[in-house]
Amino acid sequence: MAQINDHYLKLKAGYLFPEIGRRVREFSSNHPDAPIIKMGIGDVTEPLAPAIVQAMHAAVDEMGVRETFRGYGPENGYEFLREAIVKHDFVDRGINIAADEIFVSDGSKCDSGNLLDIFGSNNKIAVLDPVYPVYVDTNVMAGNTGPADDDGRYEGIVYLPVTEENNFEPELPNEHVDLIYLCYPNNPTGTVASHELLQKWVDYARQHEAIIFYDAAYEAFITEDGVPHSIYEIEGAREVAIELRSFSKTAGFTGTRCGFIVIPKELSGKTADGKSQPIQPLWHRRHSTKFNGVSYIVQRGAEAAYSEAGREQIRELVNFYLENASIVKNGLERLGIKTFGGINAPYVWLRTPDGKSSWEFFDDLLEQSHIVGTPGSGFGAAGEGYFRLSAFNSRENIETAMERLTSKVPS
Ligand SMILES: *Cc1c(COP(=O)(O)O)cnc(C)c1O
Repeated sequence: MAQINDHYLKLKAGYLFPEIGRRVREFSSNHPDAPIIKMGIGDVTEPLAPAIVQAMHAAVDEMGVRETFRGYGPENGYEFLREAIVKHDFVDRGINIAADEIFVSDGSKCDSGNLLDIFGSNNKIAVLDPVYPVYVDTNVMAGNTGPADDDGRYEGIVYLPVTEENNFEPELPNEHVDLIYLCYPNNPTGTVASHELLQKWVDYARQHEAIIFYDAAYEAFITEDGVPHSIYEIEGAREVAIELRSFSKTAGFTGTRCGFIVIPKELSGKTADGKSQPIQPLWHRRHSTKFNGVSYIVQRGAEAAYSEAGREQIRELVNFYLENASIVKNGLERLGIKTFGGINAPYVWLRTPDGKSSWEFFDDLLEQSHIVGTPGSGFGAAGEGYFRLSAFNSRENIETAMERLTSKVPS
């Protein structure tokens, strides 16, 4: 019989979203007429921007004509897209990144898992708690952890709590770690990192010869001045950081699929015999062996997100979600509920009132207001006592949800 990868059996069987689904189904079957508003999931709701649709239509037409038809594209992405990325996301912000340091992919979830292919299995991993579950689960699958304990924490992973008590600023680990996952603006807490905080992390990584995986999926939601948009704004980051970017939340590409990672040429790891080895050629080898590129049509769509019209249209989309977030945040604050995030991110993270557990608050909100959110404890043990509401929704749903909350505060 074929041997399976036993590490998969350590995974806590996708507990969070299935459990939410189960509770919602149970509630709906007891209250079939209750109009439920879903504010749990981190998925966009608004259609693609016209400039993007137009560019993809034109690309489809090219594919239908012999003279402009294209087969396999360059594995790392078409130059037209990599050049547009470099200009608008980096050079225009005064950041030194070149087009040959960009690797276009079908999204950040895949990238964050796939990256582990080129790293060894003895690395010490650090994540924030609460955390985007993909970072943890992909390390479990890769065999980089031991089993989970009763709180769902895996042996061998260093969890760094981010809570109201430390102002959502993770402390540096008090031990050596090799790989560090940072996500800013943060999912699930919606908080951001200051320049100073990121400098501390880059300095730690340089001192410990560690590598930071910097997930900037929500970069477009940054509204406040002075908040770093890229890890490469930080001095020394080119030596220690890989940045993950995605068009999913920025340009509504969750169903269209496109993202990229940045690997600066200076970034190195070490071989088993202790020699320094640049990371970029390893990733190029991995990417070109196991991946054949993102569709031409989608890359033309992504390129259009950087055109003048495209940038204006996706800015409007992002602003629309941010206004939703502000309605949610202000509504909750008026009810005396303490909130975090929601200013530079499409997520509002709230402290559950009256010391309720995350799941108690979930049940109350569903019962009394027919609103579905995400219990903070589902993102990690330190998320207990918190709750996430997503701003990805129609304005009508957001306003209705807030009206319901004001008339029936879960208490
Ligand atoms: C949505 C999201 C992404 C984007 O993933 P894709 O695979 O590009 O859709 C990446 N990181 C975080 C934390 C996210 O919430």
